[in-house]
Amino acid sequence: MIIDGKAAAEEVLEQVRVRVQKLKSTPCLAAVIVGDDKPSHIYVKNKIKMCRSTGIKSVECELPGSASQKEIIDSVKKLNEDKEITAILVQLPLPNHVNKYSVIESIAPSKDVDAFTSANFSNTVFGISDFIPCTPAGIIYLIKKMGVRIEGSHCVIVGRSEIVGKPLAFALLNLNATVTICHSKTHDLKKHCTSADILICAVGKPGIIKGDMIKTGAVVIDVGISRSEGRIRGDVCFEEAANIASYITPVPGGVGPMTVAFLMKNTVDIFEKYHILNIE
Ligand code: NDP
Repeated sequence: MIIDGKAAAEEVLEQVRVRVQKLKSTPCLAAVIVGDDKPSHIYVKNKIKMCRSTGIKSVECELPGSASQKEIIDSVKKLNEDKEITAILVQLPLPNHVNKYSVIESIAPSKDVDAFTSANFSNTVFGISDFIPCTPAGIIYLIKKMGVRIEGSHCVIVGRSEIVGKPLAFALLNLNATVTICHSKTHDLKKHCTSADILICAVGKPGIIKGDMIKTGAVVIDVGISRSEGRIRGDVCFEEAANIASYITPVPGGVGPMTVAFLMKNTVDIFEKYHILNIE
């Protein structure tokens, strides 16, 4: 069965719209973008568009690719101090001369909508808050929506980035899954993948996961987005996997829309938690 990420995202967005309408003041998301990476600009445009669609205010803070680390951090600090701004995201990747960790750490944890700062990341690790990064949150929503049991399942995550693989691993562990994380140095990727009840791929290499790497009846979540042969492709060979998996996300139309929907949800969550006491 193909998991309809667009429809699931619309459900989340509708809940966000209702929550925003009930607020006496409006959350405002600031998106910091550095340089002219084309996909990053497309992602930010999409996020801003979704803000409009949910009634959230937004501002785009564009810096040239030549901006120094200090200049970027100074811009983030200005946004931290601006009372109108209630949520901040720094679009990744940043140019090579910039230390992304220093920039992320400069975001006030109360405005860190992606939950990437160490203060928020540790909440994900310890499982003391539902406020987790957007892509892992969207993935878990989809798995639960399909009625798939996470507790006790063997979840194999291919990819260990800070934005997908690592936070997702902790979030699933906190839901009592047994978690294996694979990466570029993993020996025998196929052996690990074929043991997965739930296989999540976040690599960015089109078609790296073939049909014979999937256990019959497994749930397959494809996070990868690559542009190849003139189209957008995921990490999974969809045609092969669709005959073997019980549930599978398509690319596009799977995890992607969930990430943006959960960005909107996180924006409202931190607004309610840190920035207002005036919900009707
Ligand atoms: P990163 O490049 O940060 O991480 C990729 C991971 O894949 C790394 O951990 C890397 O291992 C691992 N890897 C690379 N080659 C192999 C291999 N041959 N076998 C096993 N593992 C391998 O990427 P991101 O996590 O940022 O993104 C991954 C993909 O997901 C991209 O296509 C991105 O566009 C997409 N994405 C999609 C989102 C969505 O909303 N749908 C949101 C975020 C990302 P190592 O650590 O050893 O280098």
